[in-house]
Amino acid sequence: MKRPLKLKAVILVLLVVVLPTALAQHLNAQGPATFSGQRAFDAMRHLVAFGPRPPGSESLAESRRWIIHQLLLAGCHVDQDPFVASTPIGPIKMVNIIATIPGASPSVIMLAGHYDTKLFNDIRFVGANDGGSSAAFLLEMARILGRRKNKYTYWLVFFDGEEAIQTWSATDSLYGSRHLVQKLSADGDLSRMQAMILVDMIADKKLDIRRDGNSTPWLSDLLFKAADRLGYSHDFLKNQLTAVEDDHIPFINAGVSALDIIDLDYGPENSFWHSAQDTLDQCSPQSLEIVGRVVTALLQELDNSPRIH
Ligand SMILES: [Zn+2]
Repeated sequence: MKRPLKLKAVILVLLVVVLPTALAQHLNAQGPATFSGQRAFDAMRHLVAFGPRPPGSESLAESRRWIIHQLLLAGCHVDQDPFVASTPIGPIKMVNIIATIPGASPSVIMLAGHYDTKLFNDIRFVGANDGGSSAAFLLEMARILGRRKNKYTYWLVFFDGEEAIQTWSATDSLYGSRHLVQKLSADGDLSRMQAMILVDMIADKKLDIRRDGNSTPWLSDLLFKAADRLGYSHDFLKNQLTAVEDDHIPFINAGVSALDIIDLDYGPENSFWHSAQDTLDQCSPQSLEIVGRVVTALLQELDNSPRIH
Protein backbone atom coordinates (compact mmCIF):
# COMPACT_ATOMS: atom_id res chain seq x y z
CA MET A 1 0.00 0.00 0.00
CA LYS A 2 2.92 2.33 0.58
CA ARG A 3 4.07 2.60 -3.00
CA PRO A 4 0.73 3.56 -4.57
CA LEU A 5 0.23 6.09 -1.80
CA LYS A 6 3.58 7.68 -2.60
CA LEU A 7 2.75 7.69 -6.28
CA LYS A 8 -0.56 9.37 -5.49
CA ALA A 9 1.29 11.98 -3.46
CA VAL A 10 3.68 12.62 -6.34
CA ILE A 11 0.78 13.00 -8.75
CA LEU A 12 -0.93 15.35 -6.30
CA VAL A 13 2.22 17.49 -6.06
CA LEU A 14 2.41 17.54 -9.85
CA LEU A 15 -1.21 18.64 -10.15
CA VAL A 16 -1.25 21.16 -7.32
CA VAL A 17 2.22 22.69 -7.53
CA VAL A 18 4.02 21.95 -10.77
CA LEU A 19 1.21 22.32 -13.32
CA PRO A 20 -0.12 25.71 -12.12
CA THR A 21 3.46 27.02 -11.93
CA ALA A 22 4.13 25.86 -15.48
CA LEU A 23 0.85 27.44 -16.62
CA ALA A 24 1.71 30.72 -14.91
CA GLN A 25 5.15 30.72 -16.52
CA HIS A 26 3.54 30.06 -19.89
CA LEU A 27 1.17 33.00 -19.43
CA ASN A 28 4.02 35.22 -18.26
CA ALA A 29 5.95 34.29 -21.37
CA GLN A 30 3.19 35.99 -23.35
CA GLY A 31 3.84 39.20 -21.43
CA PRO A 32 1.57 41.29 -19.26
CA ALA A 33 -1.63 42.71 -20.70
CA THR A 34 -0.19 46.18 -21.27
CA PHE A 35 0.61 47.78 -24.60
CA SER A 36 4.16 46.98 -25.72
CA GLY A 37 5.61 49.48 -28.19
CA GLN A 38 8.43 47.07 -28.94
CA ARG A 39 6.05 44.27 -29.79
CA ALA A 40 4.06 46.61 -32.04
CA PHE A 41 7.31 47.75 -33.66
CA ASP A 42 8.26 44.11 -34.32
CA ALA A 43 4.90 43.61 -36.04
CA MET A 44 5.56 46.73 -38.13
CA ARG A 45 8.95 45.33 -39.15
CA HIS A 46 7.24 42.10 -40.18
CA LEU A 47 4.73 43.98 -42.35
CA VAL A 48 7.42 46.14 -43.98
CA ALA A 49 9.29 42.94 -44.89
CA PHE A 50 6.40 42.04 -47.24
CA GLY A 51 7.48 45.06 -49.34
CA PRO A 52 5.12 47.58 -50.97
CA ARG A 53 1.53 46.48 -50.20
CA PRO A 54 -0.88 48.28 -52.54
CA PRO A 55 -4.49 47.07 -52.92
CA GLY A 56 -4.86 43.93 -55.02
CA SER A 57 -1.17 42.98 -54.75
CA GLU A 58 0.15 39.57 -53.77
CA SER A 59 2.23 41.20 -51.00
CA LEU A 60 -0.93 42.67 -49.48
CA ALA A 61 -2.57 39.22 -49.64
CA GLU A 62 0.48 37.77 -47.87
CA SER A 63 0.38 40.43 -45.17
CA ARG A 64 -3.37 39.84 -44.80
CA ARG A 65 -2.77 36.12 -44.17
CA TRP A 66 -0.13 36.99 -41.58
CA ILE A 67 -2.37 39.55 -39.84
CA ILE A 68 -5.25 37.05 -39.66
CA HIS A 69 -2.93 34.42 -38.21
CA GLN A 70 -1.79 36.86 -35.52
CA LEU A 71 -5.40 37.80 -34.70
CA LEU A 72 -6.38 34.15 -34.33
CA LEU A 73 -3.40 33.62 -32.00
CA ALA A 74 -4.70 36.55 -29.92
CA GLY A 75 -8.01 34.71 -29.56
CA CYS A 76 -10.07 36.94 -31.85
CA HIS A 77 -12.88 35.86 -34.13
CA VAL A 78 -11.87 37.02 -37.62
CA ASP A 79 -14.04 37.91 -40.61
CA GLN A 80 -12.90 38.97 -44.04
CA ASP A 81 -14.97 41.56 -45.87
CA PRO A 82 -14.13 41.27 -49.59
CA PHE A 83 -15.45 43.69 -52.20
CA VAL A 84 -14.57 44.95 -55.64
CA ALA A 85 -13.65 48.63 -55.75
CA SER A 86 -14.13 50.75 -58.87
CA THR A 87 -10.89 52.69 -59.21
CA PRO A 88 -9.50 55.00 -61.91
CA ILE A 89 -7.36 52.09 -63.18
CA GLY A 90 -10.25 49.62 -63.19
CA PRO A 91 -11.84 47.23 -60.69
CA ILE A 92 -9.60 46.05 -57.82
CA LYS A 93 -10.47 43.30 -55.36
CA MET A 94 -10.05 44.61 -51.82
CA VAL A 95 -10.54 42.96 -48.44
CA ASN A 96 -11.18 44.55 -45.04
CA ILE A 97 -10.24 42.43 -42.04
CA ILE A 98 -12.55 42.55 -39.02
CA ALA A 99 -11.55 40.97 -35.71
CA THR A 100 -14.24 40.69 -33.05
CA ILE A 101 -13.68 40.52 -29.30
CA PRO A 102 -17.07 40.04 -27.62
CA GLY A 103 -17.74 42.06 -24.47
CA ALA A 104 -20.48 41.99 -21.84
CA SER A 105 -22.48 44.47 -23.94
CA PRO A 106 -23.36 44.06 -27.64
CA SER A 107 -22.58 47.77 -28.08
CA VAL A 108 -19.45 48.20 -30.16
CA ILE A 109 -16.32 50.28 -29.96
CA MET A 110 -14.40 50.09 -33.22
CA LEU A 111 -10.63 50.46 -33.31
CA ALA A 112 -9.45 50.90 -36.86
CA GLY A 113 -6.57 51.63 -39.19
CA HIS A 114 -5.49 50.84 -42.72
CA TYR A 115 -3.11 48.10 -43.81
CA ASP A 116 -2.69 48.94 -47.51
CA THR A 117 0.17 51.14 -48.70
CA LYS A 118 -0.08 53.76 -51.41
CA LEU A 119 0.62 52.59 -54.95
CA PHE A 120 3.71 54.19 -56.48
CA ASN A 121 5.31 53.24 -59.77
CA ASP A 122 8.39 55.44 -59.45
CA ILE A 123 9.54 54.77 -55.88
CA ARG A 124 9.75 51.76 -53.58
CA PHE A 125 7.17 52.72 -50.97
CA VAL A 126 7.04 50.32 -47.99
CA GLY A 127 4.85 52.50 -45.72
CA ALA A 128 6.43 51.66 -42.37
CA ASN A 129 4.50 54.50 -40.74
CA ASP A 130 1.72 54.94 -43.32
CA GLY A 131 -0.06 51.60 -43.37
CA GLY A 132 2.42 49.67 -41.23
CA SER A 133 2.04 51.47 -37.90
CA SER A 134 -1.77 51.36 -37.87
CA ALA A 135 -1.94 47.62 -38.61
CA ALA A 136 0.81 46.86 -36.07
CA PHE A 137 -0.97 48.96 -33.45
CA LEU A 138 -4.23 47.06 -33.95
CA LEU A 139 -2.45 43.71 -33.60
CA GLU A 140 -0.98 44.78 -30.27
CA MET A 141 -4.41 46.05 -29.11
CA ALA A 142 -5.89 42.67 -30.10
CA ARG A 143 -3.36 40.94 -27.88
CA ILE A 144 -4.36 43.11 -24.91
CA LEU A 145 -8.12 43.24 -25.39
CA GLY A 146 -8.28 39.52 -26.19
CA ARG A 147 -6.83 38.69 -22.79
CA ARG A 148 -9.15 40.70 -20.58
CA LYS A 149 -12.86 40.83 -19.85
CA ASN A 150 -14.32 43.83 -21.67
CA LYS A 151 -17.44 45.85 -21.02
CA TYR A 152 -18.02 46.62 -24.69
CA THR A 153 -17.60 44.50 -27.77
CA TYR A 154 -14.58 45.52 -29.83
CA TRP A 155 -14.26 45.42 -33.58
CA LEU A 156 -10.69 45.77 -34.73
CA VAL A 157 -10.86 46.79 -38.36
CA PHE A 158 -7.99 46.75 -40.85
CA PHE A 159 -9.13 48.79 -43.85
CA ASP A 160 -7.98 48.02 -47.36
CA GLY A 161 -7.82 50.81 -49.94
CA GLU A 162 -7.46 53.83 -47.67
CA GLU A 163 -5.05 55.42 -50.11
CA ALA A 164 -5.98 56.95 -53.45
CA ILE A 165 -5.02 54.75 -56.38
CA GLN A 166 -4.18 57.90 -58.36
CA THR A 167 -5.16 61.29 -56.93
CA TRP A 168 -7.11 61.77 -53.69
CA SER A 169 -10.79 62.54 -54.31
CA ALA A 170 -14.19 61.61 -52.90
CA THR A 171 -14.30 58.60 -55.22
CA ASP A 172 -10.59 57.72 -55.26
CA SER A 173 -9.82 57.16 -51.54
CA LEU A 174 -11.22 55.49 -48.42
CA TYR A 175 -12.48 52.46 -50.39
CA GLY A 176 -12.55 50.09 -47.40
CA SER A 177 -14.23 52.43 -44.93
CA ARG A 178 -16.82 53.63 -47.46
CA HIS A 179 -17.66 50.01 -48.24
CA LEU A 180 -17.87 48.94 -44.59
CA VAL A 181 -20.18 51.78 -43.55
CA GLN A 182 -22.58 50.78 -46.34
CA LYS A 183 -22.41 47.11 -45.37
CA LEU A 184 -22.93 47.75 -41.63
CA SER A 185 -25.80 50.07 -42.44
CA ALA A 186 -27.44 47.52 -44.74
CA ASP A 187 -26.98 44.76 -42.14
CA GLY A 188 -28.46 46.93 -39.37
CA ASP A 189 -25.22 46.78 -37.35
CA LEU A 190 -24.14 50.41 -37.67
CA SER A 191 -26.44 51.43 -34.80
CA ARG A 192 -24.48 49.13 -32.46
CA MET A 193 -21.44 51.38 -32.85
CA GLN A 194 -20.85 53.77 -29.95
CA ALA A 195 -17.49 55.13 -31.08
CA MET A 196 -14.83 54.66 -33.71
CA ILE A 197 -11.19 55.28 -32.88
CA LEU A 198 -8.93 55.45 -35.91
CA VAL A 199 -5.13 55.50 -35.88
CA ASP A 200 -2.89 56.43 -38.80
CA MET A 201 0.83 57.27 -38.96
CA ILE A 202 1.49 56.94 -35.25
CA ALA A 203 5.09 55.64 -35.20
CA ASP A 204 7.05 58.78 -36.23
CA LYS A 205 10.15 59.06 -34.01
CA LYS A 206 9.14 62.67 -33.42
CA LEU A 207 5.54 62.22 -32.40
CA ASP A 208 3.18 65.19 -32.68
CA ILE A 209 -0.51 64.50 -32.79
CA ARG A 210 -2.75 67.49 -33.39
CA ARG A 211 -6.42 67.93 -32.71
CA ASP A 212 -8.36 66.90 -35.81
CA GLY A 213 -11.23 69.29 -36.52
CA ASN A 214 -13.13 66.61 -38.45
CA SER A 215 -13.29 64.29 -35.42
CA THR A 216 -16.16 64.25 -32.93
CA PRO A 217 -15.34 66.90 -30.29
CA TRP A 218 -16.25 64.90 -27.16
CA LEU A 219 -13.99 62.05 -28.28
CA SER A 220 -11.13 64.47 -28.98
CA ASP A 221 -11.65 66.02 -25.54
CA LEU A 222 -11.35 62.60 -23.88
CA LEU A 223 -8.23 61.78 -25.92
CA PHE A 224 -6.29 64.92 -25.05
CA LYS A 225 -7.42 64.79 -21.43
CA ALA A 226 -6.06 61.24 -21.19
CA ALA A 227 -2.79 62.30 -22.85
CA ASP A 228 -2.40 65.24 -20.44
CA ARG A 229 -3.11 63.02 -17.45
CA LEU A 230 -0.41 60.55 -18.54
CA GLY A 231 2.13 63.35 -19.08
CA TYR A 232 2.20 63.24 -22.90
CA SER A 233 1.16 66.82 -23.65
CA HIS A 234 4.35 67.29 -25.72
CA ASP A 235 3.26 64.47 -28.04
CA PHE A 236 -0.47 65.27 -28.07
CA LEU A 237 -0.76 68.97 -28.96
CA LYS A 238 -4.28 69.86 -27.92
CA ASN A 239 -3.97 73.51 -28.94
CA GLN A 240 -2.82 72.83 -32.50
CA LEU A 241 -5.67 72.22 -34.90
CA THR A 242 -5.71 70.31 -38.16
CA ALA A 243 -8.45 68.83 -40.36
CA VAL A 244 -7.76 65.43 -41.84
CA GLU A 245 -9.66 63.31 -44.33
CA ASP A 246 -9.20 59.71 -43.33
CA ASP A 247 -11.18 56.50 -42.78
CA HIS A 248 -13.22 58.14 -39.99
CA ILE A 249 -15.01 60.47 -42.44
CA PRO A 250 -17.51 57.92 -43.85
CA PHE A 251 -18.45 57.02 -40.25
CA ILE A 252 -18.81 60.68 -39.22
CA ASN A 253 -21.02 61.23 -42.28
CA ALA A 254 -23.15 58.26 -41.19
CA GLY A 255 -23.65 59.79 -37.72
CA VAL A 256 -21.13 57.68 -35.78
CA SER A 257 -18.92 59.43 -33.20
CA ALA A 258 -15.40 59.03 -34.56
CA LEU A 259 -11.86 60.14 -33.78
CA ASP A 260 -8.73 60.17 -35.93
CA ILE A 261 -5.40 59.93 -34.11
CA ILE A 262 -2.87 60.92 -36.75
CA ASP A 263 0.57 62.53 -36.92
CA LEU A 264 0.71 64.22 -40.30
CA ASP A 265 4.01 65.92 -39.56
CA TYR A 266 6.49 63.27 -40.69
CA GLY A 267 10.03 64.43 -41.39
CA PRO A 268 11.01 68.04 -42.22
CA GLU A 269 7.84 69.74 -43.49
CA ASN A 270 6.15 66.34 -43.73
CA SER A 271 8.61 65.33 -46.48
CA PHE A 272 8.76 61.65 -45.44
CA TRP A 273 5.00 61.27 -46.02
CA HIS A 274 4.28 59.28 -49.20
CA SER A 275 8.01 59.10 -49.91
CA ALA A 276 10.72 56.44 -50.08
CA GLN A 277 11.82 57.77 -46.66
CA ASP A 278 8.80 56.20 -44.93
CA THR A 279 10.98 53.44 -43.49
CA LEU A 280 11.47 51.71 -40.15
CA ASP A 281 14.44 53.88 -39.15
CA GLN A 282 12.18 56.96 -39.08
CA CYS A 283 9.88 55.24 -36.59
CA SER A 284 10.22 54.23 -32.95
CA PRO A 285 8.73 51.74 -30.49
CA GLN A 286 8.41 54.62 -27.99
CA SER A 287 5.94 56.53 -30.17
CA LEU A 288 3.82 53.42 -30.65
CA GLU A 289 3.88 52.83 -26.92
CA ILE A 290 2.82 56.39 -26.09
CA VAL A 291 -0.17 56.13 -28.42
CA GLY A 292 -0.93 52.66 -27.03
CA ARG A 293 -0.98 53.96 -23.46
CA VAL A 294 -3.14 56.95 -24.34
CA VAL A 295 -5.64 54.85 -26.30
CA THR A 296 -5.79 52.31 -23.46
CA ALA A 297 -6.61 55.18 -21.07
CA LEU A 298 -9.19 56.50 -23.54
CA LEU A 299 -10.88 53.08 -23.64
CA GLN A 300 -11.08 53.20 -19.86
CA GLU A 301 -12.72 56.62 -20.09
CA LEU A 302 -15.23 55.22 -22.58
CA ASP A 303 -16.06 52.39 -20.18
CA ASN A 304 -17.14 55.07 -17.68
CA SER A 305 -18.62 57.55 -20.12
CA PRO A 306 -22.34 58.31 -19.84
CA ARG A 307 -22.31 59.12 -23.56
CA ILE A 308 -22.22 55.46 -24.51
CA HIS A 309 -24.37 52.64 -23.34
ZN1 LIG B 1 -1.00 57.62 -46.79
